[in-house]
Amino acid sequence: MRALTGIQPTNILHIGNLFGALQPAVALQHDTDLAMMIVDLHAITVPQDPKTLRERILFLAAAYIAAGIDPKKTMLFQQSQVSAHSELAWILQTVCRIGEAERMTQFKDKAGEKSEKVSVGLFTYPILMAADILLYDTEVVPVGEDQKQHVELARDLAIRFNRDFGETFVVPKPVIRQSGARIRSLLEPEKKMSKSATNAKSYISIMDDADVIRKKIRGAVTDSEDGITVDDSRLGLKNLLTILHAITGQSMVDIAAGYEGKAMKNLKDDVAEALVLSLEPMQAEINGLLTNEDSLIAIIAEGSQKAKGLADVKIKKVKQAMGLLL
Ligand code: AMP
Repeated sequence: MRALTGIQPTNILHIGNLFGALQPAVALQHDTDLAMMIVDLHAITVPQDPKTLRERILFLAAAYIAAGIDPKKTMLFQQSQVSAHSELAWILQTVCRIGEAERMTQFKDKAGEKSEKVSVGLFTYPILMAADILLYDTEVVPVGEDQKQHVELARDLAIRFNRDFGETFVVPKPVIRQSGARIRSLLEPEKKMSKSATNAKSYISIMDDADVIRKKIRGAVTDSEDGITVDDSRLGLKNLLTILHAITGQSMVDIAAGYEGKAMKNLKDDVAEALVLSLEPMQAEINGLLTNEDSLIAIIAEGSQKAKGLADVKIKKVKQAMGLLL
């Protein structure tokens, strides 16, 4: 069974990305044929500095590997190295209706008031995502709730194309990620942890050093109620328990039970140490991979070649089905 997932090479990853997206992807390697993308064509739908983008692509590849993605088992590749993504995205733009594209709520959220000024690419982003999915006969697309509508669009486009031009695409299923933890902002726990937050104290980057991690966790907003409990009205506290749960695999209720008679400070100290212990080896591996840039570039190129092999076969089928002479 083919599963496909990807992250944009934009900012440095935070622990929300690690626990919410990367770790569940690593787990998928065991029972699926995983395609793990560096979605750089999606990243450029908003302005990117070229030098930084290049660095972020390499960083993301290193982070995937350090988090446990095995490039021998998993097709780890860079979207822009496989030209069929752009080709199929164009073709699917001719299949997608304006009304369908206009219904995408994420575009409305992202473009907001500025919808006249943002790139056309930001608007057609879900169609590129449909191309990503359909090129590889993907059956399972593990996504957060915010991306579900995009996978449904990919389904609709696949069904319409198959109807109009003959059986060509596997119709994918959106699978809402259950296993990944949702990590909240350390300062405003009612919001999710986000790398676009202006205050760096609200998130923990996977590259933060031990002292920074300790300071940020100490400063995490909690509450002044007594006791450590799992309670939806205590979001800051629940967030700390979620982080420990993501690291140890222990249930939050069990974790909380271990803090009977102890204070919030004890929990914060433990969360900070658990984060330091789990991030330090990852950071060392990322830094090691980044110092040997050529071999990292070779790993990305090898995965991208593999992806290109599959994608080129599919794009040919698509063109043939449509009567585009090959
Ligand atoms: P983004 O670059 O923000 O689109 O995030 C990349 C991936 O990380 C997506 O799969 C998101 O669903 C996931 N993600 C982002 N923020 C969080 C968070 N705070 N908690 C859990 N998962 C997250």
